[in-house]
Amino acid sequence: MLRIAIQKSGRLSDDSLNLIRECGISFINSSLKLKTESTNFPLEILFLRDDDIPGYVADGVADIGIVGQNVLVEEGMQDLTVEALGFSKCRLSLAVPKGDSYSSVEDLNGKNIATSYPNLLQAYLSERGVQANIHTISGSVEIAPSIGLADAICDIVSSGSTLISNGLREVEQVFKSQAVLIANKELSEEKREILEKLLFRINAVQRAQRAKYILLNAPNDKIAEISKLLPGVKSPTVLPLLEEGWSSLHSVVNEDDFWEIIEKLKASGAQGILVVPIEKMII
Ligand code: ATP
Ligand code: ZN
Repeated sequence: MLRIAIQKSGRLSDDSLNLIRECGISFINSSLKLKTESTNFPLEILFLRDDDIPGYVADGVADIGIVGQNVLVEEGMQDLTVEALGFSKCRLSLAVPKGDSYSSVEDLNGKNIATSYPNLLQAYLSERGVQANIHTISGSVEIAPSIGLADAICDIVSSGSTLISNGLREVEQVFKSQAVLIANKELSEEKREILEKLLFRINAVQRAQRAKYILLNAPNDKIAEISKLLPGVKSPTVLPLLEEGWSSLHSVVNEDDFWEIIEKLKASGAQGILVVPIEKMII
């Protein structure tokens, strides 16, 4: 049995639970419970505050966990990282009241900065030779300047709308973060095997999220040209259409390359192009 710690309720919770479900791992989730056990995979899920997850994994209370890199690095435990998970992307940024003049990070010398991430901020400022007074507060950092508690803040930003609605302007990016899977360093052989199985599934889910299945019709004399654009996992599948001289070509395309390839496919005479999601992908 492997124990995974995930955030009980917050911005990591839904995506963490979805990832576990997409790995085909079923469990009964009750928001009142602190732990639950999967019904079809040797996994127990603990629901914790995100700040506690690195410590519990380091101590072996949980074997693995999902946490934001911001929290992990703030707590000095980045060496527990196994794999980046690609969700809960955000940044830790410095912001000042929007009317204040600001030209560079040196302007923060001698200033009071409120943050929940004193270690990340201190490292950033020290690297740049800036000395500021860091005030550590645990929540509502963005209101600190308006109540006279600080001249600037250093806080998590995703869209920036919270900063704007508090009259603040983002001036420096201190740290880029996403959710990561972490693991205890001394897992037993049995637990390591379960983790390997889980990672295999996570990788299949993640690969599928970026990949699309593509089907199109093409004149037979264009198949070689189109196949070069759509190499797929091994090579495209080509099936004859009932109409003489035409084939249907099936392949896999990476979402990031998608629009660029579509243009070229059309120029090569492809018709009836269908692009459909892939649920799992094992190569
Ligand atoms: P807890 O009660 O568990 O301590 P919290 O209030 O500290 O929760 P959340 O606000 O739920 O934490 O954020 C959890 C993590 O999600 C953050 O540490 C960060 O990695 C990520 N995160 C925070 N804000 C955003 C955002 N706006 N967009 C995307 N990810 C975010
Ligand atoms: Zn927290």
